[in-house]
Amino acid sequence: MRALQLIGFGKPAEFRDVGELEAGPGEVLVRIGGAGACHSDLHLMYDFQEGMLPWNPPFTLGHENAGWIEAIGAGVRGLEVGAPVAIYGPWGCGQCRRCREGRENYCERQATVGAAGGGLGRDGGMAPFMRVDARHVVALDSLEPVDAAPLTDAGLTPYHAIKRSQHVLGPGSTTVVIGAGGLGHMAIQILAACTPTTVVAVDRHIEPLALATHLGAAHGVVAGEDANTEVLDLTRGVGVDLVLDFVGSDETLALGAAVTRQLGHVTLVGIAGGSLAVSFFSPQYEVSVASTYWGSLPELMEVIALAESGRIRADVQRFTLDDALLAYEAMRAGTLHGRAVIVP
Ligand SMILES: [Zn+2]
Ligand SMILES: [Zn+2]
Repeated sequence: MRALQLIGFGKPAEFRDVGELEAGPGEVLVRIGGAGACHSDLHLMYDFQEGMLPWNPPFTLGHENAGWIEAIGAGVRGLEVGAPVAIYGPWGCGQCRRCREGRENYCERQATVGAAGGGLGRDGGMAPFMRVDARHVVALDSLEPVDAAPLTDAGLTPYHAIKRSQHVLGPGSTTVVIGAGGLGHMAIQILAACTPTTVVAVDRHIEPLALATHLGAAHGVVAGEDANTEVLDLTRGVGVDLVLDFVGSDETLALGAAVTRQLGHVTLVGIAGGSLAVSFFSPQYEVSVASTYWGSLPELMEVIALAESGRIRADVQRFTLDDALLAYEAMRAGTLHGRAVIVP
């Protein structure tokens, strides 16, 4: 079996023959129907170095996966061969309190796992098949795996970030979404489906802003020197209740902090590596600044339910496995629309 693997940090991924896979005890083998290409894969290839993460290559990329159960390992009950499933991406120890709550993204013993998940230290979905612990599959109903795959990260991550701020997103509230790409275009739909907040999208490019307004954003603002004033003007100078920063650079964090009103939330999701100084007078009083990482398994079920009912949909650009590197190049060049999904 041919798989797209990260061989070492600081270089592009490579195709390698990895042999055939079998479902071990407690596992299922999933025939991949879609594997999303994520910006964080680019960070793995080009920005991270050995020692920065508690795990190392080689492993097959792809941490955003869905497909069909191909084989069932010993001891697994309640699942059937052929059933369509999405794969929950963050893999914890499975035994600590957070894992038992379904919040494996915040496992208390992650260091003992030796990976963050499939495609992040362990073999992921950029291959025809993937081995998964049975507790990590979530049943699909009418959704095609190719459309479900992006929900497991590009959908789940913004859903989690929005849900923790739901109490500040009542009628009359405003939310700024910085970065209207893979995660941002899902965030805008989730906000429209689950809250009455008014959405302002901010992006460097015009095309994602057009998609953003099509998906439910009330306004699109081009990133740059005037963005700060433009956003404040849209709220008559009051400021916004939530900023979801899907970029995470010095510039976007500064913009987020400058436009957030008292009691608002600045939520950092993007891993561009920027930072924000926090002092008594800045940002405004009682503004909460938080990073978020991925989401819980129950939240993934809620995201899938939203998609099954037609209220959110990932804008998918398909690539074959052979063309997977082209998908990453397009992502680097900023020429993708929505999410690139590899269909082996
Ligand atoms: Zn990701
Ligand atoms: Zn755990």
